[in-house]
Amino acid sequence: MNTKKLVLDNVRVFSTERMDLVENGRILVEGGRISSAGSRGSVDIPPDAQVIDGGGRVALPGLIDAHLHITGMRSGDNVKEPLLTPMGVFFARGVKDLEKLIMAGFTTIVDAGGIVALHLREAVNEGTIIGPRVFAAGFSLSPTFGHGDVHYMPVEYVDARTSKFMKPLKGLICDGEAECRKAARYSMREGADFIKVMATGGVLSQRDRPEYRQFTLEELKVIVDEARAAKRFVHAHAQGKEGIMNALNAGVKVIAHAIYMDEEAALLAKEKDAVVVPTLSIVHKILEVGNKAGIPEWGLRKSEEVYRDHVENARKAKKLGVKLATGTDFLGGFFPHGENAMELKIFVEKLGMTPGEAIRAATETAAEVAGMKGQTGKIEAGMVADIILVKENPLMSIDSLLKTENIELVMKGGEIVKNKLPQ
Ligand SMILES: [Zn+2]
Repeated sequence: MNTKKLVLDNVRVFSTERMDLVENGRILVEGGRISSAGSRGSVDIPPDAQVIDGGGRVALPGLIDAHLHITGMRSGDNVKEPLLTPMGVFFARGVKDLEKLIMAGFTTIVDAGGIVALHLREAVNEGTIIGPRVFAAGFSLSPTFGHGDVHYMPVEYVDARTSKFMKPLKGLICDGEAECRKAARYSMREGADFIKVMATGGVLSQRDRPEYRQFTLEELKVIVDEARAAKRFVHAHAQGKEGIMNALNAGVKVIAHAIYMDEEAALLAKEKDAVVVPTLSIVHKILEVGNKAGIPEWGLRKSEEVYRDHVENARKAKKLGVKLATGTDFLGGFFPHGENAMELKIFVEKLGMTPGEAIRAATETAAEVAGMKGQTGKIEAGMVADIILVKENPLMSIDSLLKTENIELVMKGGEIVKNKLPQ
């Protein structure tokens, strides 16, 4: 058992309740957990503790990306790249992406579908590679002609158990309640921490649209039931209103994207205590690099169509008091892991959050999506010691979190993974 005692002294501690800094603070970590935090006068230094002088840096809870994909994809060409690249290469790139994420201050990530993170999770846990704590869906569930189906490929290339094609992003195709139940069980059998489903169409699936309903209410209920029976929950790709309403009414806990979440849907999300992860970064990036990244014309067109509504609806949801968490939907390559703090910047600039609110969305609220509610995401006694020290004050400029060099110390579960503090 880890009994190491460690003190982060002379730091400005982010208080989640006040969304402000406790000046001249100190944090005591024992056995991987925070045992006390506050002003220096209120936290004693045990004689056998290792003391690190934080030099007045700002201490935040470790950041969490509540929706991304570690794929190892680089080109954005969804046809050629999976066909021509050996699986081991995707994993090697995934290892590098995990390293970039933790160096950028992300101590936990939610991988919303794909097998690279699912398998690398084990390598992180055993200490073979460094990276954030991984909470992974593995095989996502989609109906035939759904967002997880690949409409431009012959159908025999797509089903996960026979597919030789969608290597890093394999999913399961299932239709009807019996198949959905079986697929949910299969994904958990393969190691899923939660179940990812496609409740609607999307931007980057060729022959559907974000507003199309995909799994029916009955199918979603069956999947939620299987997840609940195994102490897990469901995270839905849900963009159109009908699919969002179905997901919420079926008991889905996390609504990703939520492009057409209107007032009625937002109020239902609030009533159900669901968490919404708008993932505005990916759309922002698609519009910025689209052509270069090899995004097909139909994908670019749909992205442009939906972006304004997406921002507007997320802003409304924020005003109505819906729980919002930060997730980028980044995949690597043109959607680079390591720049995931972009979502915090967008929450501040486009949704009207204060920097403190955005940090809370990326820590306390995102922890719920990672299945760690009340365990991480705050610097408080009893929490797992996931802490970062930041050189410039992000409450003054949220941009400071986007520069990896500003993240001078990263602690995950009480272990120091990065220390670039001036000695
Ligand atoms: Zn996604």
